[in-house]
Amino acid sequence: MIEIFTTGGTIDKIYFDAKSDFQVGDSPLNDLLQEANLTVTFKISEILRKDSLEMTNEDRAHIRERVAASASQHIVITHGTDTMVETGKALAGIPAKTIVLTGAMQPARFRATDALFNVAAAITAAQTLPPGVYIAMNGQIFDPQATRKNVAKNRFEPEIF
Ligand code: ASP
Repeated sequence: MIEIFTTGGTIDKIYFDAKSDFQVGDSPLNDLLQEANLTVTFKISEILRKDSLEMTNEDRAHIRERVAASASQHIVITHGTDTMVETGKALAGIPAKTIVLTGAMQPARFRATDALFNVAAAITAAQTLPPGVYIAMNGQIFDPQATRKNVAKNRFEPEIF
C-alpha cells in the first residue's frame, strides 16, 4: 500500500472567482488517480492545505510525525514547490521508508499541468527506490540535501556547493 499525503501547494490550487485569486483548495488527486487506473493500492490523507511559502517549522514537524506513524513503507507527499526542499530536509532520518515529495508548477486542474506526470513519477519512485527521502520533479529524482528550485527557470536542479 502506498500512503499519499497532501499538504497543499500549487498542485491543489483552484480559482476562486469571487476573490479573483488562486488559492489552495480540495486536492483533486483522488480523481486523477481514479482516471489513471492504478493497480497498486493507495490511500490519500490530507495533512495541510497551505501554500508552502506559509509553512512553519511546526507544520513540518507535524508532517514528519504523520509520515513516521504511517503503516506504509511507501510514502508520497504532494507539496508546494517553493519550500519542498526544506520539508525534504526536515524528513531526513525516518527509518525503513521511501518518502518521495512531489508537486506541480501548474495546478492539477489546469489542462496543461505537470501534476499527473510528477505524481506518477513519485508513485513509481516510492515503490522502487531504497529507503530515504527524495524529490520527484521535472522527470528526475533529486536528493533534498543537494537540490534547489530554480525560480527563474521554474524547475528543480542539483545544487552545486
Ligand atoms: N507557492 C507555491 C507553493 O510553494 C508554488 C508551487 O507549489 O509551485 O506552495
